[in-house]
Amino acid sequence: MAARPTIGVLAVQGDFREHLDAVRAVGADGREVRLPADLDGISALILPGGESTAMRTLMHRWGLVAPIKALAAAGAPILGTCAGAILLATKIDDGDEPVLSLLDVSVRRNAFGRQLESFETQLTMRGLGANGRAGMLQAVFIRAPQITAVGPAARVVATLDDGRVVGAAQGSVLGIAFHPELAGELRLHRALATAAHRFARRRRS
Ligand code: GLN
Repeated sequence: MAARPTIGVLAVQGDFREHLDAVRAVGADGREVRLPADLDGISALILPGGESTAMRTLMHRWGLVAPIKALAAAGAPILGTCAGAILLATKIDDGDEPVLSLLDVSVRRNAFGRQLESFETQLTMRGLGANGRAGMLQAVFIRAPQITAVGPAARVVATLDDGRVVGAAQGSVLGIAFHPELAGELRLHRALATAAHRFARRRRS
C-alpha cells in the first residue's frame, strides 16, 4: 500500500483546524505549518481562510514566503481558500503588496459588500464532475475576495451565476474565494490528496 501523502496547512492564523480535519477525512496526513522546517517533506500545502493582513505579517516574520515559493516552483500542489487566495495572487486591487505571487490574478478583498458579507450558494466548478467535467458545489463565502482579473498564465475554474469569478488555477496552484471546508465539501481536498500523492511519487523517482 502506498504511503499516505503529508499535506501541510499554513497554521499561523485562520481556519487551519477545519482544513486539517478535511485532510484527515480524505485519508492524508495533515501537518501544521508555522516554520520553514515544517514544510520539509510535505507533498501539498493549503493556505486557509482568515485575515490575510495578519497572515502576511506572520509569514514574513517567520520566513515562510521564500520556502513556500520554492515548494510551488518544485510543482507541489497548493490550494488557497479565501484569504489564502489573496496570499497567492499576483495583484491585490487595494494596493497591498502581493505576498506569494503564484497565481496570475487580481483580487479585491471583501468584495461582496455589507449585506453579503457571508452567504452560501451553489456554484459550478470545472474539473469537479466525472471525467474532469464541471460539477456543482456548495460554497460558503465569508468576507470573501473576488477575482477581478485573470492573467494569461491562469484560467477561470469557478464563477457565480452572475459571472463573477471566484476560482482560478495555474499549474498546480488553485485559488478559490470560498470555504469548501465549512460546507462539508471534501472533493477539493480529495483532489489535492491525489495530486499530492502524484507529486510525492515524482519527487521520489
Ligand atoms: N476578508 C479576509 C481578508 O481580506 C478574508 C476572509 C476569509 O478568509 N474568510 O483577508
